[in-house]
Amino acid sequence: MVGTCELNHEVEVEDRIVWIHDKGAVFSVKKLSQLLAYDGIEAVEFSFDRIWSLKVPPKVRNFLWMLAINRIPTKDFLISRRIQIDSSNRGCPWCDRVLENTNHLFFECSFIKSFWSFIFSWWDLVWKDVTNIDELCSVCWSMKLTGIQKSLWLLVIAASCWTLWLA
Ligand SMILES: [Zn+2]
Repeated sequence: MVGTCELNHEVEVEDRIVWIHDKGAVFSVKKLSQLLAYDGIEAVEFSFDRIWSLKVPPKVRNFLWMLAINRIPTKDFLISRRIQIDSSNRGCPWCDRVLENTNHLFFECSFIKSFWSFIFSWWDLVWKDVTNIDELCSVCWSMKLTGIQKSLWLLVIAASCWTLWLA
């Protein structure tokens, strides 16, 4: 049996330009200027091997690698390894509102967002809502900088992560 298929030509869909970089599809000059600061925000998965080429001390590279593979001994990590931690000492050291975990400690805590906003403002950049190390690396490596400026920028970011952990 051969079926028939008719396309419905009566439904007309109007073509229109949609600004995809805001939730409300609303164009904004501010958002555009943010986008221009980056070579490519679409990088979904960052190749963490690039961490080894950073011009920072080996222990900082090692730390960033551990951060990348989610092996930083935060409280939630330790608890998942059955290490006993007093219930009064499990919270985020900055806000004490959630169980200390990597993404919150380095990116999601409101205190830390202020910290990153400050670091980015040194370079006339607006801190994006980065929520994990993958996104941070994608954003930072995509920055339109070259040579010594790029090395210096990445050093600042690496040192900032390291400092947050030591703090
Ligand atoms: Zn917090």
